Amino acid sequence: MLSVLCPDGPPWGMTLPAPAFDNSFARLPEIFFTRQAPVPVDEPAALRVNRPLAAQLGIDPDWLAGPEGTAMVAGNTVPEGAEPLAAVYAGHQFGGYNPQLGDGRAILLGEVLDAQGRRFDIQLKGAGPTPYSRGGDGRSALGPVLREYVVSEAMHSLGVPTTRALAAVSTGEAVARERFLPGAVLARVASSHFRVGTVQYFAARQDDEVLRQLVDHVVQRHFPAARDSDNPVLAMLEGVIARQAALIAQWQLLGFIHGVMNTDNMLLCGETIDYGPCAFMDQFNAGQVYSSIDHGGRYAYRNQPGIAHWNLSVLAQALLPLLHAEQDEAVALAQQALDTFPEQFLDAHGAGLARKLGLAALQEDDTALVEDLFALMEQSALDFTLTFRQLADLADESGDAARISADFPVSGALDDWLARWRARLQREDSTPAQRQARMYAANPAFIPRNHQVEAVIQAAYDTGDLAPFHTLVELLATPFEYRPQERRFAAPPRPEEVVRQTFCGT
Ligand code: AMP
Ligand code: MG
Repeated sequence: MLSVLCPDGPPWGMTLPAPAFDNSFARLPEIFFTRQAPVPVDEPAALRVNRPLAAQLGIDPDWLAGPEGTAMVAGNTVPEGAEPLAAVYAGHQFGGYNPQLGDGRAILLGEVLDAQGRRFDIQLKGAGPTPYSRGGDGRSALGPVLREYVVSEAMHSLGVPTTRALAAVSTGEAVARERFLPGAVLARVASSHFRVGTVQYFAARQDDEVLRQLVDHVVQRHFPAARDSDNPVLAMLEGVIARQAALIAQWQLLGFIHGVMNTDNMLLCGETIDYGPCAFMDQFNAGQVYSSIDHGGRYAYRNQPGIAHWNLSVLAQALLPLLHAEQDEAVALAQQALDTFPEQFLDAHGAGLARKLGLAALQEDDTALVEDLFALMEQSALDFTLTFRQLADLADESGDAARISADFPVSGALDDWLARWRARLQREDSTPAQRQARMYAANPAFIPRNHQVEAVIQAAYDTGDLAPFHTLVELLATPFEYRPQERRFAAPPRPEEVVRQTFCGT
């Protein structure tokens, strides 16, 4: 593409103040969404601005933090070029099909391109009711906004594909929940918000033309290479499967429990979305569940890969009419694609476990070593994050990085296992220093621990003090570097601090 210096525009490469919207979804027929302006709020006030992300998106961070940016995030002004809309989708929630969901408390302002030409949605979460609010108020309380800000940005710093937090504002209005709570809006950034449930909604209408328009748009946006394949729809399905296999492996390797893996909360672009009842586990427990509404443990830690596979089968089912003109052929193609999921997940998970343990790759006879570690962690109620970080310390006794194990001693329950692990490391080609460097990069010292996220929210609710929130966000920007002066953030919860249940953001 040619770029010319525009006499009226800013010099090339300069950051524009407001977002330079370049909307593509809003060009699709209106069957995909409802145009809907955000509802202004009483008293918008900036809570936090994500300066690096703003800069990446070509938005002046000072503008975003100032009155005009705050008014945009609050929904009080719609900037030029924005085309606010609420998208429609469906979804399986806890296994039951809901034929119509949609952006009930989120409004898409539009899309922007970063310097590399990557396209991102800017969405306002908590910006007022839409036709899809189903009786809800379309608003968000401060707590869930802070929670999503902290956890989504931590996930990004941990290297996990995720939606991100561009800015948060308070509204000066109360929202009615179990009690009245201060309201807030989060400006969320995602590569796109197309969900498995979006495809479900249009498949259910049995209008192949509309479904094809949607799929063409998603292919164009997220799987451009698929356009050259013999069967672009199949290539897209394979692409989504590959991204989800990699994503869920990353969750498992960090002890992250999403909590509400409904098909409307699974993005086709492969980013983590919906930070409602999510939690990083403290003590390792394969059956761990935090969400207050997950009574059957459907979305327990150990079930996440299987649920992802199930959700992908729902996607494949919805795509059948476009996969092949003959239904039997379409089913066979979908099944073949789906059948690759377990192995793709296991490969990614195994490679990640190898990195966590300082091994170049897992060998066949490493299975017992790995399983025994998890069994010991479970039996002795060891902290997931601390244990792996401690192993990294032990990988090179002469390393000079700050050691978490100096502040949190390694459990004696691991003694015998450690001897086996050390013997196994003797078979590696790497040096202890190389292993340790790789392990430090795979085993974070800091994660958004539930009790700390809760403490941040409590401080904001009780006294309006946002300092703990800012501190936690900043600390989690560098999760792989242990800093002894920050040891309290690496500490597992004391018994009285343990968070046993989390709640949806509604
Ligand atoms: P979630 O549990 O966040 O995945 O949301 C499920 C559905 O409920 C989505 O369609 C949301 O838009 C909708 N929803 C959740 N909270 C609210 C709210 N406060 N007002 C309106 N709609 C909501
Ligand atoms: Mg959702």
